[in-house]
Amino acid sequence: MPSYLKWQRPLQVVTSTSWVHRGETVNDFVRSNRYHLTSEDRDVYRRFARLALPRHTSYPTAPTWSTDYRTADFTEDLDGVRRRNDVVSLYVHLPFCRQLCYYCACTKEIVSDASRRKLDPADELLNGVEIEIDHLARSLGELGIEQLHWGGGSPTFLSSSQLVRLFESIQKRFPATKSAEIAVEIDPRITSAEQLETLRQLGFNRISLGIQDFDEKVQRAVNRRQPLETVEAAVETCRRLKFESINFDMIYGLPFQTLESMEETVAKVVKLSPDRIAFYRLAMIPEMFRWQNVFKPADLPAGDLPLELNLLAINKFLAAGYDFIGLDHFAKPDEPLAVAAADGSLRRNFQGMTTQKELEIIGIGPSAISQLHSAIAQNVKSSHEWRVNVESNFPIERGLRLSDDDRIRQEILQQLYSFGRVDTQRVSQRFGVSFSDYFHDELGRLRELEALGVVRIGERIELTEPLGRLLVRVPAAIFDRYLPPRAFMEGLPVGQSSAVG
Ligand code: SF4
Repeated sequence: MPSYLKWQRPLQVVTSTSWVHRGETVNDFVRSNRYHLTSEDRDVYRRFARLALPRHTSYPTAPTWSTDYRTADFTEDLDGVRRRNDVVSLYVHLPFCRQLCYYCACTKEIVSDASRRKLDPADELLNGVEIEIDHLARSLGELGIEQLHWGGGSPTFLSSSQLVRLFESIQKRFPATKSAEIAVEIDPRITSAEQLETLRQLGFNRISLGIQDFDEKVQRAVNRRQPLETVEAAVETCRRLKFESINFDMIYGLPFQTLESMEETVAKVVKLSPDRIAFYRLAMIPEMFRWQNVFKPADLPAGDLPLELNLLAINKFLAAGYDFIGLDHFAKPDEPLAVAAADGSLRRNFQGMTTQKELEIIGIGPSAISQLHSAIAQNVKSSHEWRVNVESNFPIERGLRLSDDDRIRQEILQQLYSFGRVDTQRVSQRFGVSFSDYFHDELGRLRELEALGVVRIGERIELTEPLGRLLVRVPAAIFDRYLPPRAFMEGLPVGQSSAVG
């Protein structure tokens, strides 16, 4: 029996929170193999696909953060974190990579082996992290860690002994709880079995592998050669070491991707059977990420092809038994992300989708972002400047204290991106406002999208399936107070954001 047909019991739970289209859930779409757009829906999709709009991995989004938000503000906000919490989530940004991938949109610094032999920047980074942890311990006192995530850059740029040093520095001040999710991103090209064993022994239980695409021509074009055997070996080692969850990060919209190449890549992924998959649209903003200029426009999937690539992957992952979660994630039905999607505790943040919605996130390292209940704050980006600044205090570059209005809209965007609907009554009760009065103008604009079949407005606001879900950034833009009111129809100027589809 295909695994998706085994979902009978969870289905009842899922219905309360998941994406519903005329009373059907995603499971119904899978059974009848209908996750595709009608020709009318395609016309609407094309109308919006080229618009540049935010993805809302935070609200308010990064361009609104201000350098007026200083270290003193952050220190005050951390005092609130200490008073509110026994446990938090820690994110550590490790920015170094050996080689540049041309699609990259992360904050990273490329370090050649030759220059590392002269002076290893990771040692200096760890000196700085230890100082930053001391600052945090002074502000936060004794807090536990319910979630720890190391991202980058490439965390496994660090040697095994450096990985141990980093983990122990954190543990000394902020011990992980027994139930903590401890996750790390790895680059299969540079991660050794010894590093994986070290990470597992330290207590890491979740691992995320950067895959992107298995096609050789695509890999050459993006400067990331990563044979299938390398990934297979990494996955095999992770399984032997009993990591509880393995995630694959993938990208569509890369040069030379075709339906045939994507079908093969997806088949290889399904065979390797990761527990979660993040299937991102390439964030193509060469004005911001200048190295993306190496991509020739003629080599990039154009017209309807990005949509077709996405639909192909969605259908294949669903047919293989994965739940479709949020905008671009998939998880096996018993994986915590799928469970969180069913019980309503799913959240969207800088790391994609996450399970622990109430946790405040504190960022450590160059460019790291803290997402607190009261504020968003980002560290200085360059590792050199960060290192100089951290010596005396928190190396904050910019941030923003959340207003009451920001918090209401943040909740609405979380609901839209995570569950495809806004429970307007719940929002009214929680924030003590009348939804229809407070969002009178926004509802007017949403009705324009309702007329196009993107949303339905009733007791709650629901994205249609599949059109509304695929275009979620469009209705989301209506609730973003910092965007021009017609941005949802006209998009932002080129270079400010990536395209919707
Ligand atoms: S390894 Fe990751 S962070 Fe480093 S350049 Fe490639 S995509 Fe960017």
